[in-house]
Amino acid sequence: MTARDIVLWPDPRLKTVCNPVVQVDAATRVLVSDMLETMYAAPGRGLAAPQVGALVRIFVMDVDWKEGARAPVVCINPEIESESDDVATRGEGCLSIPGITLEISRPAAVTLSWTDLDGARRSDVFTGFAAACVQHELDHLNGIVTFDHLSPQGRADMEAEYAEVTQ
Ligand code: ZN
Repeated sequence: MTARDIVLWPDPRLKTVCNPVVQVDAATRVLVSDMLETMYAAPGRGLAAPQVGALVRIFVMDVDWKEGARAPVVCINPEIESESDDVATRGEGCLSIPGITLEISRPAAVTLSWTDLDGARRSDVFTGFAAACVQHELDHLNGIVTFDHLSPQGRADMEAEYAEVTQ
């Protein structure tokens, strides 16, 4: 496992719609292993493949590891099957946009399906912080970052703040 450099916004790789994984193979396993190492080292609770420069539809997450044992979830070709009508708003940070936390409203619960490292298709319901994490990481696979959820004025303000913290 090797921690890789995290791609920082506004790198164009973070604005790219990523390609589906055709086959879960040895290269996939190396990438996933490196993504987990990178996420834990950052430290973060979720990481999408484009954040390490790989433009494929994979994300990893482990929402509770800072409070207990590691329990990584690896989602290959993830898709949201359904989402709740009720919405939750929470502060979201992003390893690719260091120093910025944005209040973002999203469906409070989502049903996600994905392919695991054994190539099996799985499905589960995510609520609470995990629901936000799933949607945040899936956004990355579609070239969307937290800034894209803001109004034009809010975005201009936050991009100015980001420019200041990254100087
Ligand atoms: Zn992010």
